[in-house]
Amino acid sequence: HAKELGGNSVQFFDPLLAIAIEQRRKLENDLRNAIREDEFVLYYQPIVDLVAGDLVGAEALIRWRHPERGLVPPDDFIPLAEESELINEIGLWALDVAVKRLALWREAGNRLYLSLNVSARQIPDGLPPKVILDATRRHGIEPGTLALEITEGVLLADLGDAARWLSEIRALGFPVYLDDFGTGYSSLSYLKRFAVDRLKVDKSFVRDIAHNISDRALVEAVVAMAKSLGIEVVAEGVEDPEHIQLLRGMGCRYAQGYYFSRPLPVEDFCAMCERIPLMLRNAER
Ligand code: C2E
Ligand code: MG
Ligand code: MG
Ligand code: MG
Repeated sequence: HAKELGGNSVQFFDPLLAIAIEQRRKLENDLRNAIREDEFVLYYQPIVDLVAGDLVGAEALIRWRHPERGLVPPDDFIPLAEESELINEIGLWALDVAVKRLALWREAGNRLYLSLNVSARQIPDGLPPKVILDATRRHGIEPGTLALEITEGVLLADLGDAARWLSEIRALGFPVYLDDFGTGYSSLSYLKRFAVDRLKVDKSFVRDIAHNISDRALVEAVVAMAKSLGIEVVAEGVEDPEHIQLLRGMGCRYAQGYYFSRPLPVEDFCAMCERIPLMLRNAER
């Protein structure tokens, strides 16, 4: 540090740091314009029912079509958006697109549900339950078909407000999924205190269940625990047929991952949907 080196911090001009700061400022500016310029897009990744052997829903995952950088993944801009109110704007945009998509699917006789990611920062005031309800009512969407994915961090951040948000959301009939389960403070007492509808076991635990005994035991324990609490489990990061067989054996009902499909733009998603039952049958052999 400057002091330790006997200098004055002003003398330490680090050109790399300066470039990084400048890039970040530009990104933030671009992000501010992105909604106006209509640069965000939702991709959809299938969620399958391993028991029924079919597609049941999709997770909506945001991407940013940046004019110079191309398709930017959420991990490269959501954290930045979370540092400001921008995440709230983005969240409202995503809600709007999701309910419109559900309405179109419904018109087409399609019974799929969608799940939407919600950042801790959006809870409770960035995405009030009433706003979600109004959006679904406007488009004649049943609350049961729009799930909200939160992470354990939400429950830790502000117990009072987050708990109220959570119970209001569920009282209105919107399912709540606990995302990235296992990566945070996944304590049993939290699950008892904050009722959720599903757990999504993080892909880092699912990835190696075929070869790593402790990962397998961990996923198995999560499924058993969830079952005893009346909560369904979605395994994330399912990449090969061996995963499917193991998960089925554990009693894990739902799965999501590259084995079925990467997240896709809506047109490609719809084209892929009909292939799911066959893929599941193939995985049994
Ligand atoms: P997440 O909600 O845990 O989403 C799952 C991530 O795992 C997605 O990354 C998905 O593409 C990836 N994934 C799915 N299956 C597999 C697989 O089999 N193998 C591997 N290696 N990865 C798989 P993605 O789309 O890059 O999203 C990253 C994160 O960004 C999401 O994690 C979520 O936390 C956040 N995010 C995405 N969309 C939104 C949004 O609309 N709002 C907010 N607040 N956050 C979002
Ligand atoms: Mg998610
Ligand atoms: Mg996840
Ligand atoms: Mg994640």
